[in-house]
Amino acid sequence: MFGPSRPFAVVLAALLAALLPLRAATASAAPRVPARGQLTVHFFDVGQGDAALITSPNGKTVLVDGGPPEGGAVLERRLPELLGGRPLDLVVLSHPHLDHLGGLLKGMKAVGAKRFLDPGFDHPSKSYAELLKWVGSNVGQVMNPLPNPEKPEELVAIGLGEGVQLHILWPRAPQDPFLKGTRSDPNSNSIVFKLTYGKTAFLFVGDAEPDTEEYLLQKNIDFTSTVLKVGHHGGRHSSTDPFLQRIKPKVAVISCGVGNDYGHPTQAAMDRIARVGAHLFRTDLDGEVVAVSDGTSVTVTSGRPQAGFPRGFKAAGVSGPQVATGPILPGSHKPSKSTVEDRGRYGQDGHGHAEPGEPAGKKGKDRWTREVPAPVDEMAGPEPDPEPAPEPEAQPQQEEKPRRRERTTDTSTGPLNGGTYVASKSSKKFHKADCKGAADIKPSNKITFAARAEAAEGRTPAKDCNP
Ligand SMILES: [Zn+2]
Ligand SMILES: [Zn+2]
Repeated sequence: MFGPSRPFAVVLAALLAALLPLRAATASAAPRVPARGQLTVHFFDVGQGDAALITSPNGKTVLVDGGPPEGGAVLERRLPELLGGRPLDLVVLSHPHLDHLGGLLKGMKAVGAKRFLDPGFDHPSKSYAELLKWVGSNVGQVMNPLPNPEKPEELVAIGLGEGVQLHILWPRAPQDPFLKGTRSDPNSNSIVFKLTYGKTAFLFVGDAEPDTEEYLLQKNIDFTSTVLKVGHHGGRHSSTDPFLQRIKPKVAVISCGVGNDYGHPTQAAMDRIARVGAHLFRTDLDGEVVAVSDGTSVTVTSGRPQAGFPRGFKAAGVSGPQVATGPILPGSHKPSKSTVEDRGRYGQDGHGHAEPGEPAGKKGKDRWTREVPAPVDEMAGPEPDPEPAPEPEAQPQQEEKPRRRERTTDTSTGPLNGGTYVASKSSKKFHKADCKGAADIKPSNKITFAARAEAAEGRTPAKDCNP
């Protein structure tokens, strides 16, 4: 399922790789006046979900997620107030769950958007299909976080001006495959990024799972951040001790709804956050939370100060913040939850979404591989499943095993996609997926692999197809 979800897009990418560098709207200056030298992050009070707006010192704006459907009204009101008539420079959808995309369309329609970035894996939901349809015809540039194929060991970074950088830490497909077989693969492949400005840094982790945290910790990355947007609304599994200890957040922000059905935030997560000494803000209690960095320290204020708590909290900067501390290499991952069958199911599509021979695009730090979504009828595939609710704690929803969408171009033989390999649980041989020997394996015994290396682990190539 984590396959090349936009088969036409990658072909178009080859033609459209002349990139628009991320650039603020200039000229027709609307009344929006960002405070000089300040990087501001608004964590909106959108109920049970995530939505935040980054405004850089020179006025570039990045909306990160759009909250649940009922958050749409908040964005419709707040975005025009904060943007003063200009469109969003970039919209980042961390992952296509409803509590992150439900209000996004309303928000984007209210102010417009120039660029859209999401993790790029396939996800069969009506809301996501609708969102992509609108994005496809209304947003100029649609992107996946592909590392530069010429420099795969570097992090992708987006400059927001005046030294503000948004470094994408995850996902890094195709060279670093999407995580599979986790509690929630859509959550685990949330876009994780670190926003740096002077000595201050913000870490956004979407709904990253423990698998994501563990996987990322293997990498040469300095996670130290002044402010952490806490993973998965303070769910009990995310925000593990080792991850928090590497981030050393001074402030943690949990975005969740009052009296939500999921028990977010959990006491367990809040206890772990308290142990690293972070000052906690919660949108359910604090309302809109605003963090302002002057490059040296971050001042965080609550829109609804609690009795007995200070309205504002000032956090000193961190040392650095350096992001990459060495080459960023693929790590190793042991699926934490699913069975082998689940992995096979996810593995059928391969995991890359770039074509072999895709041009490298513009060189330099701010490069992107441009992707344009296919027409919506290509994207939609079969009739989508009914919209699932956001996932409750420890009870993965149906949507975690979405149906495989038919592909319209065959990329299975491309080296980046890795093709597919199969083996029987009862044999130590592996085959190419299209081999006759593979067809003879009983479906209940069949294991599918996206990568040859994975198939070859503890197995030898079958003689009939010599994979
Ligand atoms: Zn989620
Ligand atoms: Zn969520």
